[in-house]
Amino acid sequence: MKELLKLVSRVNRPTLGEDIPVVIFRAFRIFSGEYVKDIVGKRGASVLFQNAGRELGKEIGASIGKKSVESYLDDVVRFVKDTRIGILIPVEVGKERSVLRLDECITCSGMPNIGERICHFEVGFVAGVFEHILGRKVKAFETKCNANGEGTCEVVVHAEGD
Ligand SMILES: [Zn+2]
Repeated sequence: MKELLKLVSRVNRPTLGEDIPVVIFRAFRIFSGEYVKDIVGKRGASVLFQNAGRELGKEIGASIGKKSVESYLDDVVRFVKDTRIGILIPVEVGKERSVLRLDECITCSGMPNIGERICHFEVGFVAGVFEHILGRKVKAFETKCNANGEGTCEVVVHAEGD
């Protein structure tokens, strides 16, 4: 898995550059997500996207390295903003439970209410960055989502046994 970050980090588009409109990202994301759902079911798709996000989160965590939780989360927040994934706001941070808001989420901000929470990749990403800094497995849940009419994304992280 380590090579994936290297794979996606190399961009050579001298004319078009590195940025794409969010709407295109969402089209790729939503269309492929629906297709994956057709194949592995809704639950399977959410696990699959969450696991993919978790791997990315762990790799980003590893690239930041070990430091105090506050300083580490500052770097994660900066990464999320610099890459324009969203504005990550740690609402509550603890060894056993943390709550993070993701305002202006790349996937769901401004999306109409479709009655479901859809940001499984982002939830996994948050889980992965916490697994790295805590050195423990965590479970993570999306507790708010724009696509569920809740005005933002929110992720709750629970640490599992040592
Ligand atoms: Zn969301």
